[in-house]
Amino acid sequence: MLQKTMKAAILKEFHSDLIIETVPIPSPGHGEVLVRVKASGLCASDLHIQDGMLPTVTLPFTPGHEMAGIVEELGEGVTGLSVGEHVVCAIDITCGVCRFCRRGKQNLCKSLVRIGFERNGSHEQYCVVPAENLFPIRRDIPFAQAAIIPDAVVCMYHAIKNQGKVTAGDRVLLLGVGGLGLQGVQIARYFGAQVYATSRQDKKLEIAKQFGAHGVINTRTQDLIEEISRLTQGEMCDVIFDNIGIQTSIETCLSVLRPGGKIVVVGYNDSQFTASYQDLVIREKEIIGIRGSTRQDLAEAIRLVEDGIVTPYVSNTFSLEEINAGLHCLRRGESFGRTVVLM
Ligand SMILES: [Zn+2]
Ligand SMILES: [Zn+2]
Repeated sequence: MLQKTMKAAILKEFHSDLIIETVPIPSPGHGEVLVRVKASGLCASDLHIQDGMLPTVTLPFTPGHEMAGIVEELGEGVTGLSVGEHVVCAIDITCGVCRFCRRGKQNLCKSLVRIGFERNGSHEQYCVVPAENLFPIRRDIPFAQAAIIPDAVVCMYHAIKNQGKVTAGDRVLLLGVGGLGLQGVQIARYFGAQVYATSRQDKKLEIAKQFGAHGVINTRTQDLIEEISRLTQGEMCDVIFDNIGIQTSIETCLSVLRPGGKIVVVGYNDSQFTASYQDLVIREKEIIGIRGSTRQDLAEAIRLVEDGIVTPYVSNTFSLEEINAGLHCLRRGESFGRTVVLM
């Protein structure tokens, strides 16, 4: 018989720790599913939420948008899922009828609601979500790895496949390899690219190499332009993923991008950047963004994980009781890959 209460990590005040509280287990409504959360990823967005930077978040609030778990109970009208099935959960709840949804660009839906942003998320033992957001995943995929597919893995997948349009032989640079970049190395390899990665930490570069990077550059001790020029025999990069997102990182990207090449802005920290008309008009360099992913992307990313082509890289795990320690670790930049709370 289902227990009636659960533990949830709740943000009650901005700029303060989450508080673990015992609360009633929610019931799934029509078209919804109660998921027993087994793993919930921690993301830089959780820090932004804690810092009060997201105007759509109202307190008290349970964050968490990278969820893997087991179907516990089906709400009325739910078909196609069964109790006990392992699932991961798409973050975006989309309207299905707007111009973007109808064209398969659910990530740009006009009425977007995000789990763990505009409604309570998965830093809790049980979470109710729309059935439509759930994707079954094979039982032998560890929950910690599964949890980061709907965010870290699939965002890089969308960035590399749809925005960067990476194809075999492309010289791809991942500027800044951490929680996102280390997934990106594997995905860019899958598309047949020559993959280069940068970091200021040798440990991260070591991991990038293990995941198949052809060349790594420590930007603290090495000259990026010189190294890229050497690695590409002066051709420079075809596609660059900027996981840092500050003025100087965009400038750096433009300096090692070939004419006609693309910069995909994945991370963003500064509110604005400038670029030269020369680069855009004379050299036809493109700077494009990426937001989330589509349902199709998620289905494909799950497949890559199930087929062993991509191994979601989780470097740190914490229990729900230790969630604040996990968030502090993330804030101090101490984690090499993604950080996940295991229930
Ligand atoms: Zn996130
Ligand atoms: Zn829509």
